[in-house]
Amino acid sequence: MIGHPVAHSRSPAMQTAALADLGLAGEWTYGALDIEPGDFEAEVAELAAAGDYAGVNVTIPHKEAALAIADEATEAARAIGAANTLTFRERRIVAANTDAGGLLRSLPAAVLGEPGVGGARALVLGAGGSARAVVWALARGGEGSPAAEGTPTQIPPFEVDVWNRTAARAEALAAELGGRAVADARAADYALIVNTTAVGLRGEDPFAHLPVTPADFRPDQVVVDIVYGEEPSALLAAAAEAGATTVDGLEMLVHQGALSLQIWTGKEPSLEAMRTGVRG
Ligand code: NAP
Repeated sequence: MIGHPVAHSRSPAMQTAALADLGLAGEWTYGALDIEPGDFEAEVAELAAAGDYAGVNVTIPHKEAALAIADEATEAARAIGAANTLTFRERRIVAANTDAGGLLRSLPAAVLGEPGVGGARALVLGAGGSARAVVWALARGGEGSPAAEGTPTQIPPFEVDVWNRTAARAEALAAELGGRAVADARAADYALIVNTTAVGLRGEDPFAHLPVTPADFRPDQVVVDIVYGEEPSALLAAAAEAGATTVDGLEMLVHQGALSLQIWTGKEPSLEAMRTGVRG
């Protein structure tokens, strides 16, 4: 994992737990490197040339630089314009974005993947880097988690509305990646609400900063807050209180991490082991 800062990252504990569960703890290790933006390219080139690294996860502020340095990129990484997973293949660097697939897999498939739910409305709050992956994924749909043991559920495409504090960024994002920018969202109208804004990270009151009130939440809604901390966020606490199904940022982190580990090892890691590792 390369980031700046990176000390707070839960990924090393999560991936180490997954590797141990896969029986790979002796052969594989997952660590964190704090690299300043000016040193990113040289550091990645060095790791790729070393020959003993399978790849790296990349987080803030390097996700765009990670795509730029790659020799090849997946469709998702190219469309989103950022990569969180680099794989070293005979000195070639392949970029992927598993935030998009991780978000879809974190959704409760039993709620959103049922036949006939296609075209459900989703409200994405925010238009920053993570919103790009979320909007791209929701507007296209794709593979979700299996509802039970067995084949993955297909999550149908959503009709995506994007709200952002700075409206022009929502407009630009929706025009590029799909969806529609909205200035005034009525949160009660949506089957799915995803908060990608940094609101809540430092204890801000979400209802003071976002176009949502606790009265908007309903039992048949799914509410996702991709920002994660020690406690359930105030947004998710209010949604759960109203009976909505909630998904926190650690669940998305687990799924994006599982997809990355699968790319590198070719094995399917245990989500339970990763959840235990990430939640400490
Ligand atoms: P970013 O590019 O900096 O975007 C920040 C967003 O938050 C912008 O839309 C910004 O609006 C909005 N915002 C900030 N303060 C606000 C306020 N007071 N009121 C309303 N909106 C506000 O950040 P990012 O890369 O998208 O990351 C956002 C969060 O997602 C981070 O906490 C990150 O850790 C988390 N994340 C989690 C996962 C996961 O796997 N769970 C993955 C990726 C990211 P403006 O455009 O108006 O400034």
